[in-house]
Amino acid sequence: MKTIKSKRALAFDAKRAARFEARGVRVDNITGATVGLLGKADASCTLCDHAILWQYVLHLSMEGKTTETFEPVGSSCIQSWADSLPHSEAQAAILAALKLAVEEANVIKARFRAINALVKREKLAEVQGRALVAFYSGPPSIRDNIFLADVAYKAVDNGGFVGRQWETWERALDRAFVAFDSRDEIRAFIARAQAAIDSGRVEASPRGDTLLDILGKLEKFDAFYSDRQKSFFIALLEEAEALEVEPTQDEFAFGANTTDYDEKELPL
Ligand SMILES: [Zn+2]
Repeated sequence: MKTIKSKRALAFDAKRAARFEARGVRVDNITGATVGLLGKADASCTLCDHAILWQYVLHLSMEGKTTETFEPVGSSCIQSWADSLPHSEAQAAILAALKLAVEEANVIKARFRAINALVKREKLAEVQGRALVAFYSGPPSIRDNIFLADVAYKAVDNGGFVGRQWETWERALDRAFVAFDSRDEIRAFIARAQAAIDSGRVEASPRGDTLLDILGKLEKFDAFYSDRQKSFFIALLEEAEALEVEPTQDEFAFGANTTDYDEKELPL
């Protein structure tokens, strides 16, 4: 039996189809997919403009090993699109990934109910309840922070924060949100450091190893540990960027045989 769709649903289907087509996504070139839960906030679905609250990200693997990413997307949008696909391994992968991400959202909804109940019973102050809701609504980089997750879990499960836990946790949560908001800045620093590595300046820098060490952490955590670490990293980066280095092999090859090369000013 064919499902009868409302005009409204058909309009969403048409928009979604157009957006997929614009990015070269067709039924016959999808090889797989992953779906992740981004977080909870007012937004509109990037595939159909429908207002959504729970935001998901859809990564589609395509033939030719490229990936197309759509975010934020609503779960029902992914569901109705995936349902309409021909039965295939790709369809099964999309539906399975969506199911996992929706289950994650359901676990969070249960946490919200527990938090509300604790606020009502005055086991949590309202400000604490709001902070916990903000934490569980946050992006994966915040929700997956081991310290934040561990303390939040215990606070909800044991009926409140204990001792100095609340103050420490609230400060760490603030830092995590600040770090999340500064992602673009972090990416720019990583790109600058990469350019300094490519030009050989980091290797030539006396404190290049320290720079690489902090860069590794920056790439891993997407955030500086502290303002002090940030200023230190900038100082190391500027120190490396200011170095005059010999041109790399490729640039060098051209002038390598000229006798007066050493007298020439080396290109920066
Ligand atoms: Zn949608």
